[in-house]
Amino acid sequence: MALDNKNIFVNGFTFCLDHGDELCTRCCCDHRMDNNVRIEKELGDVEELFEHEVEVRQPINAYAHGAVAALSTESAYECETHKAVDCLKCFNWVKIIKQEAEDAEEHGRWLGKRASLKDFLTPDVVVADG
Ligand SMILES: [Zn+2]
Ligand SMILES: [Zn+2]
Repeated sequence: MALDNKNIFVNGFTFCLDHGDELCTRCCCDHRMDNNVRIEKELGDVEELFEHEVEVRQPINAYAHGAVAALSTESAYECETHKAVDCLKCFNWVKIIKQEAEDAEEHGRWLGKRASLKDFLTPDVVVADG
């Protein structure tokens, strides 16, 4: 809490103002947990898919999805494409995360194979968390 970081809010999700990142190493912030909670219901079965990994999913960058400060209200963000505040098409985080979950699942299967093999060789391996 040493830094006075500013955040932006795009369609319910929190990102750092300077970089538009959910997870920002420069701002030392990680909003993924907060953001996950916001879409918990919508995620539903996907959360199962992720298991604990929903907490370590790929961070989203709001600016990469075209978020720009809305002219009408300074605190809101709109998309570049439709000029719509909290655009459900461009800032469809649930869809983005679900897509990632599907990809992760495929990848995860392969990783799972490796992990079990690794487990077999080194049972004391602890997955470090940041
Ligand atoms: Zn940042
Ligand atoms: Zn849009």
